[in-house]
Amino acid sequence: MAPLPNSIEARDIAHHFHPFTNARRHEEIGPIVMAKGDGVFVEDIDGKRYIEAMSGLWSVAVGFSEKRLVDAAVKQMAELPYYHSFTHKSHAPVVDLAEKLINIAPVPMAKVHFTNSGSEANDLIVKLLRYRANGMGEPRRKKIISRLRGYHGITLAAASLTGLPNNHASFDLPIEGILHTICPHYWREGREGESEEAFATRCAAELEAMIEAEGPETIAAFIAEPVMGAGGVVIPPVTYWEKIQAVLSRYPEIVFVADEVICGFGRTGEMFGSVTYDLKPDIITVSKGLSSSYLPISAVIMNDRVYQPIADETARIGTFGHGFTTTGHPVAAAVALENLKIIEERDLVGNARARGPRLQDGLRRLADHPLVGEVRGVGLIAGVELVTDKEKKVAVQPPGALAAKAFGLIQERGVISRAIGDTLAFCPPLIIEDEHIDTILATTREGLDALAAEMG
Ligand code: PLP
Repeated sequence: MAPLPNSIEARDIAHHFHPFTNARRHEEIGPIVMAKGDGVFVEDIDGKRYIEAMSGLWSVAVGFSEKRLVDAAVKQMAELPYYHSFTHKSHAPVVDLAEKLINIAPVPMAKVHFTNSGSEANDLIVKLLRYRANGMGEPRRKKIISRLRGYHGITLAAASLTGLPNNHASFDLPIEGILHTICPHYWREGREGESEEAFATRCAAELEAMIEAEGPETIAAFIAEPVMGAGGVVIPPVTYWEKIQAVLSRYPEIVFVADEVICGFGRTGEMFGSVTYDLKPDIITVSKGLSSSYLPISAVIMNDRVYQPIADETARIGTFGHGFTTTGHPVAAAVALENLKIIEERDLVGNARARGPRLQDGLRRLADHPLVGEVRGVGLIAGVELVTDKEKKVAVQPPGALAAKAFGLIQERGVISRAIGDTLAFCPPLIIEDEHIDTILATTREGLDALAAEMG
């Protein structure tokens, strides 16, 4: 039904060009306009309530109505609403947050540099690695290896790290010097008769072959999410990280970057995905769960061997010629600090660990559904990949159409998931309780049953 003239929906269609949206389709169907949120729920302007089973965009760890974050923001707004950190200036929230991140980092880290989004953090890493290579007198060491279906954001450099066609198409990306190795999705990429461990061995061998083919002295870094999120929730196959890190240990000059933008702060049932998978990164990027996305903030956390040559280069040039007006924004930093306090005080990481199996086991019980190809996940992040032919692992054309329909039917019934290709993703707030998980599970099944019935 066309929106009423002058309704908020009509005004949205008239004036608002949306991110990650088919603009022409949006002109036809318009938006769902959200009005408020509480706990794991959001409510639209018509009063319809939904369980936000994606935490917005993998973000809202503490739920949608955390008064302590509001109070932290108001207090900081009243005291010092804005200041910058250029040219030796600082303020307490940014210092406290940097110290906190160093203290809770899963491996010894030296410094934190703040940015406003996950994309900016990863974009900065590309710049930092160039800067560092030049500083070290290794100007050829500029290439970065990422993975197909990895997601690292959307700025020119971050989108280049991303290994998804829709983030490259018509943007003339990727930029030069970014390489993509195999996506570690055993169910899709594993060969006939190949065990999960053998597949992991092949992934590691492909990484090593790429390093050798390019020349190890030209590779600055390998970047990866501990668990791939926006590429369709890809859980690393057994022994994958052990084998990838064994390869990296043979090339100690290659920096290992863990993109913890989704995994960080409890998502996998540990404080960091790097703990879950025993990763030893040199750089970690965080965002989303850092402030529960109540305000935009992200950070690049780096160890001493990354930092030192960069610091030397700033001294040689006379400054570090990078920074945003809002880098380390005091209100965002104050909210992030309070958010981390809440995660710790309420043991939300423990809650993710405790509730995770209910979500994972429940979704796995969907495996016998005629439209379900694979169910995968860890902690409070999961993916259900839909197919119409289980044997051939294919869905209807065009790709993504099946999951888009399922997503719509599930959303109509009051649960917001996300369709990524033909995978339905789930990533609920860390505060979730058993009854909400049960609703997500029951509603997902109902939506899939309705879709199966529709398809005959
Ligand atoms: N890295 C990962 C792993 C992400 O999932 C995302 C966003 O989904 C980003 C980076 C980019 O973050 P942002 O959307 O804040 O730019």
